[in-house]
Amino acid sequence: MIVKEIVDIMQTYAPDSIALDFDNVGLLVGSETNTINGIAVALDVTMECIESCIKDSVNLLIVHHPIIFNPIKSVSSSTYVGQLLLKLLQNNINVLVMHTNMDNADCGINHTLAKMIGCDEISNLMEDGSGVKGVLKGVNFNILISDLAIITGDNNIRSYGQDKKVSNVAIISGAGGRDEDVIKYLKINKIDTFISGEFKYSIILELVHMGVNVIDVSHYECEKIFIEIVRDILIKEKITEKGIYKYYL
Ligand SMILES: [Zn+2]
Repeated sequence: MIVKEIVDIMQTYAPDSIALDFDNVGLLVGSETNTINGIAVALDVTMECIESCIKDSVNLLIVHHPIIFNPIKSVSSSTYVGQLLLKLLQNNINVLVMHTNMDNADCGINHTLAKMIGCDEISNLMEDGSGVKGVLKGVNFNILISDLAIITGDNNIRSYGQDKKVSNVAIISGAGGRDEDVIKYLKINKIDTFISGEFKYSIILELVHMGVNVIDVSHYECEKIFIEIVRDILIKEKITEKGIYKYYL
């Protein structure tokens, strides 16, 4: 099996075309014609993660966050990203990035979280496809926070607002709560509860003033479900049966 076969399978679930304009997704390191010895899934490319791949002969790493995001002027050991890239290249490890395409796909992070908290009528929130909205019935704010703590494993969830019945929920995993544009979409959709992985202080103040309750789950905790989503695709596509999917990080 070669890298291109996995890239093509993943495209059918979360195509690059639905990634946001600013994003950098796809095969960012490696070659589509490389033969796969092993696949691992992680949220980020870290030095520890690369060491594990080397130890277990894994040469395809599927990650959520782009290892190359801002333009780089060199690939040298003088920068953190340079060190990671050198280590990947020296060990022939390919990296496939699925970022905002996997945030916003039907099988992706936001839709999955919305389903897990029990939302109905789930659809995308913003015009560019970012985030989801959904309807919850008969759940109180404090109960939703405890449900999210169980679902995400974050025991330190920060919340702002009054304990009241939740009806119209919006979710943007990652840094959605730092984007001023979101406020407009929360208003239009009459959202009463907004869940994200990072917030700007001034946005929290404005939302609470508007009567929108805020739930701040940590960035990592609200996105680590990515690993299970990709694993489930690999199981469904019978890739795991080929013995090349060794573990996930
Ligand atoms: Zn993220």
